[in-house]
Amino acid sequence: MGTPGYAGRILRIDLSSQRVDELATLEYSDAFLGGRGLAARLYWDETRPESSAFDPGNVLVFATGPLAGVPVIGGSRWQVCGKSPATNPHHFSYCNLGGRWGASLKFGGYDAIAVRGCSEKPVYVLISDGGASIRDASHLWGRGAIETREALTAELGEAARVAAIGPAGEKGAVMATILADQDSSGSGGLGAAMGAKKLKAIVLTSSGRRAEVARPEELQQLIEYYRGLRRLPLKASTYRYSDDLVPSFGRVKMKKAAPCYGCRGCTRRLYEAEDGRKGKFMCASALFYQPWVVLHHGGWKDDVAFHATKLIDNCGLDSKSIDHTIGWLYACFQAGILTDEGTGIPISRAGSPEFIEALTGKMARREGFGDLLAMGIQAAAAQVGPDAVRLTRNVGYLGMPEYELLYDPRLYIPHAIFYATEPRLPMSQLHEYGVLMPKFASWARGEPGAQAAPGVIRAIAHRFWGSEAAGDLSTYEGKALAARMIQDRETAKECLVLCDMVWPIVDQENTADHVGDPALESRLLSAVTGREVDENGLNRIGERVFNLERAIRVREGHRGRAFDQPPGRCFTEPLRFDQVNQDCVVPGRDWQPISRKGATLDRQSFEAMKDEYYRLRGWDPGTGLQTREPLVDLGLGNVADDLEARGLLGH
Ligand code: SF4
Repeated sequence: MGTPGYAGRILRIDLSSQRVDELATLEYSDAFLGGRGLAARLYWDETRPESSAFDPGNVLVFATGPLAGVPVIGGSRWQVCGKSPATNPHHFSYCNLGGRWGASLKFGGYDAIAVRGCSEKPVYVLISDGGASIRDASHLWGRGAIETREALTAELGEAARVAAIGPAGEKGAVMATILADQDSSGSGGLGAAMGAKKLKAIVLTSSGRRAEVARPEELQQLIEYYRGLRRLPLKASTYRYSDDLVPSFGRVKMKKAAPCYGCRGCTRRLYEAEDGRKGKFMCASALFYQPWVVLHHGGWKDDVAFHATKLIDNCGLDSKSIDHTIGWLYACFQAGILTDEGTGIPISRAGSPEFIEALTGKMARREGFGDLLAMGIQAAAAQVGPDAVRLTRNVGYLGMPEYELLYDPRLYIPHAIFYATEPRLPMSQLHEYGVLMPKFASWARGEPGAQAAPGVIRAIAHRFWGSEAAGDLSTYEGKALAARMIQDRETAKECLVLCDMVWPIVDQENTADHVGDPALESRLLSAVTGREVDENGLNRIGERVFNLERAIRVREGHRGRAFDQPPGRCFTEPLRFDQVNQDCVVPGRDWQPISRKGATLDRQSFEAMKDEYYRLRGWDPGTGLQTREPLVDLGLGNVADDLEARGLLGH
């Protein structure tokens, strides 16, 4: 059944007929590896393009990768893919979660679960040593995601791993999340697709604890090599809750949180409030409410921010979307378009506990004005009126539009391609330039210990992005190739599934050249599975999956060139700010530090970069549509046939 790296089976559940059967993982893993790749192929095969996210025909796939359950640092994350209601029209999307649920799925004998259909009554799926069963969840319907997790672990044992939705998912809020163990949450609106199926949770209780590895000694050597490259597994070093700053949280306890399965840990913190409530404190979800708290209270109050994070997790709402919602509500309030009385939400007290309680409660239950907000701010604004629509641009950090564009394309030019070609915020793609360049800015400021000097950037640009020119961010030269290489590598990463907090190793501290090692992921894959895949081979899998996802989107209504656009204001409004690289400093000509403050994207240069990008991908530059030969070369001949039959193949 199983082969090294794989449990060998995919569980397929039809909630309409309550039927359960299995597929062999091998049918998918050779070409698509696991995680997002395996899920995208299952989705292509099983979801009709005209299905809405809420239709029984929308197949939701929960998938691990070949490294899950193996003590590879950051290797046990997992993916959920399916059609999401977050976009209009609904499109294929994805999210990525951590904790222990993914490893437990593999220990329970499955690499993935594909769920189609809709149950008549609320259910949860239980995978135990006795196999898979569909159980009544009527007693859980209406309860929060955290409450559901607690109720199911009380019922089935502390070792049970639960992925659940809150009331927001049940009610179809387009920003509904899926919440798993260790407060790991998945965004992208897929919680609403789960709710439409009346699927409250998937629970894993199997006692298995072993994942087979083909060459354990080689794997151990690679893990040691990894540890030698990095003193710290860092991506989020720029966030405020680094170790140095923990004491600033005062009377509230904060300690290192348990890492995801098999990992060493990172900036995850376990927050313990005075009332005894505990929870993960990490990344954007931990901090989304702080700026509003500062606005209202005149200073940081982490207990209020923690309360807000727990509230949205329990409701099953996405912090980034709620942050944008608050930004838009506040802008409308200041413009006199919306009032506390008219909405039933105390907008004037944004940043207070009572505001976030009213907002999230009304959105999750879809009560009053919350019903409108649960459709997303674009849809809500369209109902409120043209002035409110104009203010949807000001939906970020305290109404500052720049914050919406994390790692802004005006600052890092290749990011314009990512924003133009992805169905959601392409976070992992943004992290190669977006994490390295602030380190260059530190070097430019002369900070002690800063290692990202021009020579380092030049070598990294050559090794990771295809040319030295890719490191000069004053021009468009080399950026199309850099974008393509990053997309392929990052897509392969999400097939493995490796954590974005620590992979890839673009730069590193402990060698003379400080250049990272992009071949390490493929060597890990080979050691775990016994299948020889080198760096190019792994990137080729990423390219295949990226092309498959492009075909899915085109089949679902994306129209190529005309639709491949970053947000319009990148062309018209000068860059003023960046959350991480505050002075917007990047390498320019001759590797001199320059600031991109005041820069816009040049329309003509962007379109020329797109031409080059399409050519590099073998797509039709005229239409941006894929063409037959590259798809066939990637083993996607049947995808080319399908697109051709629909008139969606380029020339
Ligand atoms: S680096 Fe952090 S978030 Fe990533 S897998 Fe490890 S513990 Fe989880």
